[in-house]
Amino acid sequence: MSDQLMPAAFIGHGTPMNAIDHNRFTDAWQAFALASPRPRAVLVISAHWFTESTSVTAMTRPRTIHDFYGFPDTLFAVDYPAPGDAELAKEVARLAAPTEVHLDEHEWGLDHGAWSVLVHMFPGADVPVVQLSIDAHASFEDHFALAGRLAPLRASGVLIVASGNIVHNLHRMDTSQPDAGFDWAQRFDDAARQLMQVSPEVFPTLRSHRDFSTAVPTPDHFIPALYLAGLAVAAGQHPSVLVDGYAMGSLSMTSYALPAVA
Ligand code: ZN
Repeated sequence: MSDQLMPAAFIGHGTPMNAIDHNRFTDAWQAFALASPRPRAVLVISAHWFTESTSVTAMTRPRTIHDFYGFPDTLFAVDYPAPGDAELAKEVARLAAPTEVHLDEHEWGLDHGAWSVLVHMFPGADVPVVQLSIDAHASFEDHFALAGRLAPLRASGVLIVASGNIVHNLHRMDTSQPDAGFDWAQRFDDAARQLMQVSPEVFPTLRSHRDFSTAVPTPDHFIPALYLAGLAVAAGQHPSVLVDGYAMGSLSMTSYALPAVA
């Protein structure tokens, strides 16, 4: 195996419409993949697989899950037929110890947190994809530590993509302001950026930020960012901003990347 370290990313995926839209966010996701060495597989930690324990997809043909409603038929028609990678699933389970990881051969597949991003990164669906679920009962520190145990995957050709949103409050969305960010959203996103770029080792402390409960009313979309911070610390790297912005006041679209090391 080479000494090359694959890049890694946290993608602020926004609404499912980003799967079929082309905008400056999806352009940035695509550019990131084009600039990256071709991975042997992608491991995705998606906000939309929020579970009672930790599972990893281990089927050979993960199905495309349309886990939303009220969107156009064209979005429900999207199929992302990337193969799975059962060997990588086992590798993930082994590295995750002492976290117990269930090998999921039948239940899940690829949810829109994964495929709405992957359709832009790897439009040919020709790179195997494995998804890791988020254990709702684990602490921020647990997720951060688990990311560190998964870090060796980057040295074996696996691209790790965490997919969520730093600020994600669906109840505060204002569709009349498609590109706006409310002041509290900007404060929280700025604080997250500061920690991510300068001191990712204390990223979990964002929990005590004064705007946390408004920016992160449920933890599912925030937790994937803990994975990128944990990967950064494990590699002694600092994430940089891939693209940033806001959507509908209460979503931050900020994405971060860790560089490849040749
Ligand atoms: Zn989402």
